[in-house]
Amino acid sequence: MTKMRLSNVNAAQWTADVPIGQDEPANVFGANVFGPNEQRARLPKHIFRALQRTIERSEVLDPAIADIVASAMKDWALERGATHYTHWFQPLTGLTAEKHDSFYAPIGDGTAIASFSGSELVQGEPDASSFPTGGIRATFEARGYTAWDPTSPAFLLENPNGWFLCIPTAFTSWTGEALDHKIPLLRSNEALNKSAVRALHLLGDTHVERVGTTMGPEQEYFLIDKSYYYQRPDLINTGRTLFGAKPPKGHELDDHYFGSIPERVLAFMLDSERELLKLGVPIKTRHNEVAPGQYEIAPIFESTNVGVDHQQLLMTMLKNIAPRYDLVALLHEKPFAGVNGSGKHNNWSMSTDAGDNLLNPGDTPEDNLQFLFFAAAVVRAVDVHQGLLRASVASAGQDHRLGANEAPPAIISIFLGSELENVFQAFADGKAYVSPAGEFMGLGSPVLPALPKDVGDRNRTSPFAFTGNKFEFRALGSSMSPGLPNTVLNTIVAESIDYMVEDLEKAIKGGKSVAEAIPEVVGKIYRDHGRIVFGGDGYSEEWHAEAEKRGLLNLRTTPDALPQLITDQTVATFDNYGVLTERELHSRFEVFLEQYIININIEAETAYDIASTMLLPAALRYLKLVQDTGVSALEAELAPLVDKLVAAIAHLKEVNAEHPEGTEAEADYMRDSVLETMAEVRTYADALERLVADDLWPLPKYAEILFIK
Ligand code: ADP
Ligand code: MG
Repeated sequence: MTKMRLSNVNAAQWTADVPIGQDEPANVFGANVFGPNEQRARLPKHIFRALQRTIERSEVLDPAIADIVASAMKDWALERGATHYTHWFQPLTGLTAEKHDSFYAPIGDGTAIASFSGSELVQGEPDASSFPTGGIRATFEARGYTAWDPTSPAFLLENPNGWFLCIPTAFTSWTGEALDHKIPLLRSNEALNKSAVRALHLLGDTHVERVGTTMGPEQEYFLIDKSYYYQRPDLINTGRTLFGAKPPKGHELDDHYFGSIPERVLAFMLDSERELLKLGVPIKTRHNEVAPGQYEIAPIFESTNVGVDHQQLLMTMLKNIAPRYDLVALLHEKPFAGVNGSGKHNNWSMSTDAGDNLLNPGDTPEDNLQFLFFAAAVVRAVDVHQGLLRASVASAGQDHRLGANEAPPAIISIFLGSELENVFQAFADGKAYVSPAGEFMGLGSPVLPALPKDVGDRNRTSPFAFTGNKFEFRALGSSMSPGLPNTVLNTIVAESIDYMVEDLEKAIKGGKSVAEAIPEVVGKIYRDHGRIVFGGDGYSEEWHAEAEKRGLLNLRTTPDALPQLITDQTVATFDNYGVLTERELHSRFEVFLEQYIININIEAETAYDIASTMLLPAALRYLKLVQDTGVSALEAELAPLVDKLVAAIAHLKEVNAEHPEGTEAEADYMRDSVLETMAEVRTYADALERLVADDLWPLPKYAEILFIK
């Protein structure tokens, strides 16, 4: 095989169809979305208003209006050149799914007309038998339904040969059980809304009618040249490299983070950002990440449901657009061993219908108390459900990243910043808080000084950090849907708010004012749950020991973490808030565990193939060359490594051949035996990579893949 070299990279072709910069940015944003502007222009006033009420206040939509919306949506799509439509949904694969149907049907006189009815908009019936259900749906009853989510706008996807309309939908079994990530998320939004509104009314803000959650993700990814990708069966089959010696240069020089963006990469970014803007995804930030070849893209935050849909679109577009620039976007959590992996920071907050961010410390004392109340609810939620939060980000890819000295540890803790920590601690101790500015925060007094906006320092090592006016859950994997983590956050915070509201009501009944009662309630929460707060270095050995002393969970791997989805505590909470039933939780547990097993099995089979049919033959050819030329010192180094590789490959074959019965036992086996044996094969293969003649080595090396941009 001829290996790709720098000279093959052709720089001349990096231009988009329409030169970027010729469009007005304002015209581009949302151009392919059936959003409020199109709706207002095309729908009768009362229909438009009813739709808006559904979007803004989750009011039930009158089915009678669906026909009218469908017809307007169809006209808009046809005018833009679309020929097909699809219900677009998010099964538990973590990917999106679509099945296209044409708008056009023949009418008997040799012509065809376009039609799209309300019922086609509202409900679809894909054959659900091939989507993961975790045993919820018996195979003989394969029906699944997609149901229109009017709160997430429909959009058009472009292809050079035709466009199609995508309608965001939920996906359920025929018994009404959630088979997707959207249904529980929408349910959890309702739960949080109810609890937060109840709390705000008690705190004196009686005008609030709705509280929603907001989510702003920061997505990390790698870009590599397409020709390397196609020479690596491991990247093609598993999304990560299963072999590859550490390159001489990594990111030790700290020369990549925020570095100037290479030309070809920037061309790709501008193109994909423009496509995303057309789809209404409010892209804001781009930069080089820490590792060579690693980048980040971040949109402005949106309502959680729309944000999650947009996040899926974002991942799809990165993957689809990269090949235009002879690049491949890698979203795997750890594409290269020994090189920083990719995560997805999930910025999260709560906000009222008046636009007030409940996690904004604010400038006035009243806001301040309210803020401390809601922030304390998050602290309690994360402590009580630390295991569940950990489980919500578990996957085979994540096990290479979490706790690997670059990403948040597998131990969940909260970073608050010293200022906020001191305020909470003062409340917990029943003492007055003296702010560093010398101002006095009298406990129990409504006359509290405003908290500084930028509370404390930054801490990159924390999995869950307060960053000024939101919490940032940093443990998400780069390739995952943020659906489940946000569902968990919404639900557990709703529960904590209710818990605190009950305490508050008791104190008020006992004759206290709200302003007197809040510091007491918050202080108690901090006494009970302050153990989850940690401001130090999350990567350090000391923290592991300290966390154990505090009784915090350290769930290192996916098989350790996933059972947290089905503990009595999780089941009770999710049932109580109507977010997921016990059966729905069990189905997720099974699906995710099976995905873990299947992914590692694919990796193991691929590793075996590559090692036995590509790497070993290369090593043998080189060994022969060395023997023929009679360089005995080299032979003495090489021959034992080849022997060890042969033995390790045989071991891997044996380990792959037979797995134990039972999903949980099999998952443990994948972690303890299969991954271990793969690592053994890799050790010898990587050592050989550094000895064997470069022109004989069949795989592109890290030094090439990561540094040719
Ligand atoms: P940082 O540098 O602290 O991570 P930024 O202000 O650049 O902060 O924001 C990072 C991400 O946080 C962005 O995706 C942004 O949209 C998101 N974000 C900001 N405010 C909120 C909020 N209230 N709710 C959810 N996400 C938010
Ligand atoms: Mg950030």
